Amino acid sequence: MLGTLYIVATPIGNMQDVSARMTSTLQSVDVVFAEDTRVAMSLLHKLEIKTTVKRYDHHSHDRQIKEVLDELEQGHSIAYVSDAGTPGIEDPGGRLVESVARDLPDALIVPIPGPSAIITALSICGFPADKFFVMGFAPKKKGRQTYFDNVAESTITTVLYESTHRIEKTVEEIASRQPDRRLVIARELTKKFETILRGTASELMEQLATSNTKGEFIIVLE
Ligand code: SAM
Repeated sequence: MLGTLYIVATPIGNMQDVSARMTSTLQSVDVVFAEDTRVAMSLLHKLEIKTTVKRYDHHSHDRQIKEVLDELEQGHSIAYVSDAGTPGIEDPGGRLVESVARDLPDALIVPIPGPSAIITALSICGFPADKFFVMGFAPKKKGRQTYFDNVAESTITTVLYESTHRIEKTVEEIASRQPDRRLVIARELTKKFETILRGTASELMEQLATSNTKGEFIIVLE
């Protein structure tokens, strides 16, 4: 009988968001594949779980997918965790599921739901979120202007990721096209220094100039 692949969501910062099902799954599987083994080992250590951790990321796909398929063919159960949040959304989890679903269509793929940075930000944005558009990170160079033009053209709630280094530049790009577009900037969600900024793009551009811009960010545009 084929093994089962569990796609396990993990905290986006706050360990109290660990669920009982997440813990029992990571404990009971034969092996955990992880986007970053150090991040996963640190999580398992905190949970006092000793399951073996192996790498599966964008770079190791070709090599590791064979090992994943072999494990499942031998009837072993596997968990996959990304760095944080729900796998499959802008991380290698999507490609892993695609390969397993294609090459072993009879293998069970079981989601273990939990934290997601996007859904967490949407839940407090106060904009209509019945429909939303996720645009991921802005390209650093090639395609950058087109990306922000597309953001400006979006007519539904739109979600972007950003890092410490580029948050101010990104809000500047939005403000240069749509100074009055309303934004929510969610920084360090679920963590000690969680900060939610609300305002127009030009107001938030000014606010960021005097705010702490360390950490992880999600920008939601109305
Ligand atoms: N799959 C993940 C999920 O569903 O939560 C999202 C992966 S995405 C590549 C990671 C990006 O989400 C980070 O670079 C950051 O922009 C954002 N992010 C992750 N954790 C966050 C947090 N605690 N607060 C704010 N943004 C966060």
